[in-house]
Amino acid sequence: MTITTPVRTRFAPSPTGYLHLGGARTALFSWAFARHHNGTFVLRVEDTDIERSTPEAVQAIIDGMNWLGMQADEGPFYQMQRIERYREIIAKMLEEGTAYYCYSSAEEVDAMRERARMLGMKPRYDGTWRPAPGKTLGAPPEGRSPVVRFKCPQEGATSWDDLVKGRISFDNGELDDLIIARADGTPTYNFCVVVDDWDMQITHVIRGDDHVNNTPRQITILQALGATIPEYGHVPMILGPDGEKLSKRHGAVSIMDYDAQGYLPEAMVNYLARLGWSHGDSELFTREQFVEWFDTRNLSKSASQWDPKKLNWVNAHYIKQSDNATLAQLVAPRVAQSGADPEATDLEAVMGLLKDRSETLNDLAEGALLFCSPFVPAPAELQAEVLTDEARAVLQSFAQHAEALDEWTTESLAQAIRDTLAANGIKMPKLGIPLRVAATGRKQTPAIDAVLAILGREKVLRRLNEL
Ligand code: GLU
Repeated sequence: MTITTPVRTRFAPSPTGYLHLGGARTALFSWAFARHHNGTFVLRVEDTDIERSTPEAVQAIIDGMNWLGMQADEGPFYQMQRIERYREIIAKMLEEGTAYYCYSSAEEVDAMRERARMLGMKPRYDGTWRPAPGKTLGAPPEGRSPVVRFKCPQEGATSWDDLVKGRISFDNGELDDLIIARADGTPTYNFCVVVDDWDMQITHVIRGDDHVNNTPRQITILQALGATIPEYGHVPMILGPDGEKLSKRHGAVSIMDYDAQGYLPEAMVNYLARLGWSHGDSELFTREQFVEWFDTRNLSKSASQWDPKKLNWVNAHYIKQSDNATLAQLVAPRVAQSGADPEATDLEAVMGLLKDRSETLNDLAEGALLFCSPFVPAPAELQAEVLTDEARAVLQSFAQHAEALDEWTTESLAQAIRDTLAANGIKMPKLGIPLRVAATGRKQTPAIDAVLAILGREKVLRRLNEL
């Protein structure tokens, strides 16, 4: 695609809740498109639904964007702070005749719609107050405040080449004369979007395909204003694993819940990017590669499906790739949250031991408890089962080998284990299981030599000697 003007994209959430996965994904596409073209990514808060919009929701959306690392270059701009500007454009359109006052009451409009329906036509406003050459309008009913309607062209069609879906066309005859200002003067949703996209010089609108039906309305108004029409790309929705529209029923839908559950932002970006976009058969890529490769031509026309298993696989990959110090830093607060002391061990070494087998930071934190929580000896039953006289003798033998070590490392402990096995003529399980139970209180742990190395000489020998 050759793009000559500077690219400007926008994310335009309605702040009525958290940043949900669908919103995060379309934001990510708009962000990547802007970055790919060295353009500008604008954040616009569509807060005109004052009943449902809250400052907390705005913050939650910004937090989510920051967490994913897709900061806006401009904004946040708030629609509620732009009301004067919308009014100004409405006045201009009334003056120019591209909009008109409509005095029909809501009941009258309902009746018009009903009549159209009965005639087998699309329910619409019948144009009673729409000015036309040679037409005389009635006298405005006393005391009724009018709405303002856009005088939508009735002939021809409104079409665009959707960046995702290809050519889309609507007959103008099907489009109603949209209300752009309510009787109390407040501008309506589609109108605010139009003025904003115009004023903010948005060149590419990438958004959910629930907005396809709004697009011809927005284009016709932009045309009436003499504005440049942006390119539109409508991204299909995300379905849950069961094929239904993704919702709370499928688990967390707020992006920040994934932070709480121990997903890394880079994994989330990678996973979300692949939901409806692809680059050959690449599944794992960096943020930089994503930006470099991003092209709307590779956005999928069909809905994508949320796959928690794949997300875990992607997250596990990023965990494995992270260095131990970074992981320790991210995991420490999670360990503390579960009441243990992250300082009680060499957390970096613990990360090194656990990161190949963990899918989330929370898995890592849970695994780290073995090293950070106060020692809880194995339950009596397990002790009775595993710590037989024979096993205790083997453990004593191991303790002697271990005590003699100059250096207490995974390698030296592995050697001490091998020496103990040889000296007693036994195989690993005869030592491994009792050693785990005695030193950690558990039957299952990661590699025992590494576990003992991290626990340290003092703790391990004390636990063995106290048997
Ligand atoms: N505020 C709209 C929404 O949250 C988005 C509008 C747009 O992208 O044009 O669905």
